Amino acid sequence: MANYKKIKVPTNGEKISYKDGKLSVPNNPIIPYFPGDGTGLDLWKATQVVLDGAVLHAYGGKRKIVWMEVAAGLTSLKWYDKDTVLPEETLEAFKEFRVSIKGPLTTPVGGHKFVCLDCSKEQNEVAGKRPEKCVQCKSEWITPRFRSVNVGIRQKLDLYACVRPVRWYQGVPCPVKEPQKLDIVIFRENTEDVYAGIEFEKGTPDQKQVYEFLTKTMKKNFREDSGIGIKPISETGSKRLIRMAIQYAVDHKKPSVTMIHKGNIQKFTEGAFRDWGYEVAKTEFRDKIVTEQELWDDLNGKMPAGKVLIKDRIADQTFQQLLLRPDEYSVLATPNLNGDYLSDAAAAQVGGLGIAPGANIGDGIACFEATHGTAPKYTNLDKVNPGSLILSGVMMLEHMGWVEAAKLIIKGLEKQIASKRVTYDLERQMPGATTVKTSQFGAEIVKNMESLRETVAA
Ligand code: NAP
Repeated sequence: MANYKKIKVPTNGEKISYKDGKLSVPNNPIIPYFPGDGTGLDLWKATQVVLDGAVLHAYGGKRKIVWMEVAAGLTSLKWYDKDTVLPEETLEAFKEFRVSIKGPLTTPVGGHKFVCLDCSKEQNEVAGKRPEKCVQCKSEWITPRFRSVNVGIRQKLDLYACVRPVRWYQGVPCPVKEPQKLDIVIFRENTEDVYAGIEFEKGTPDQKQVYEFLTKTMKKNFREDSGIGIKPISETGSKRLIRMAIQYAVDHKKPSVTMIHKGNIQKFTEGAFRDWGYEVAKTEFRDKIVTEQELWDDLNGKMPAGKVLIKDRIADQTFQQLLLRPDEYSVLATPNLNGDYLSDAAAAQVGGLGIAPGANIGDGIACFEATHGTAPKYTNLDKVNPGSLILSGVMMLEHMGWVEAAKLIIKGLEKQIASKRVTYDLERQMPGATTVKTSQFGAEIVKNMESLRETVAA
């Protein structure tokens, strides 16, 4: 066990372990968590009540999560010192305990000079001066000097897949006529492409050097006053991501995996992503898959039962396909940028941008998270929708193999939405609905689960 300074490791729980590509989960696993900044605390409190309630109702006390609080973002400035937003021991705990869950974190948008230590509201200088106190909660301002902590966690732990399931929940208002037809899981590469962050600002010495090299040595032609960005997409990075997506499809008996790319324009990055994907499918999953070409060339378009169809689509076409023929898609594997756009657009299609869950997964380490931000103007108002964090908790339970508890939460949430007692964001779109607070929403889901527990008996 690592030597933790501020983190208090509970004595009544055990570690989740990982061997031969499989997790071994005890009945009392220690799970590190942090509520996050801004509205994170309200969201976390409701989520914890729901997760604990589901485990209790599903397993009658035989299983229990032992929570271990860690810190990151603004909280860690209070726990540690004024420069530590991503403490080493938080990363160590995520590594050692294998499965973790986190709330949203502040990433000040370019230009914002100050951020409130308590409510995470961001503000610029007022008439060229540092604002005295936070206008919202009167707390102290700090000057942020950090890039995204979220990105830091993903990179330092090599959580190379951002996994976002997107489906409709009965009763959620949405812009399409048949939202139930979309039921997909997006595996988005999390470490390369634009996330590799290789950029050169126009006019800097580095940009000039890269420009000279590309135009003179490599004989490429483009404007001298360009900002330059490089998007590396590697064979290693692509293959491990697509391998995880295919394995997921096999394990969950999903009908297809579609690789999404812009290979028509960028052959050696996006196109290569697709080619490496087919290579993984054919060499590592040969008896479990059929490629789309094989389907038409050899099988007369008849898909053999129990096999996963491997296909690819150009990214822009996929946006219209998901709207027009959503039920032809199941698992999607994408490079970083395509997946970023696609997962938000797909979530919006089923009305669930505010309740879309997510996870960052690597080999033997997984961190589950709400996909929205800190919504700072609602900090401590007990107002925002905890659905995203709760559903990320559902993904976490599924990942741990505690599927009965996961199913119970889905049923409890569906019943809650059907009752039209929802948080403000859903209420404003649902005629005849009643607004409830974050904490009420969570507590009522737990109440719903009491009467539903027989339906998921372990
Ligand atoms: P945001 O926090 O996601 O909030 C934007 C708007 O989305 C809110 O004003 C609210 O809409 C709605 N919203 C967000 N979460 C909600 C919830 N749980 N329930 C109901 N409505 C919700 O985005 P932002 O204001 O652009 O970003 C604020 C901070 O969060 C920034 O520092 C940003 O970098 C960070 N961020 C973090 C993550 C992460 O940690 N994963 C992700 C994205 C952004 P209405 O105003 O219409 O009510």
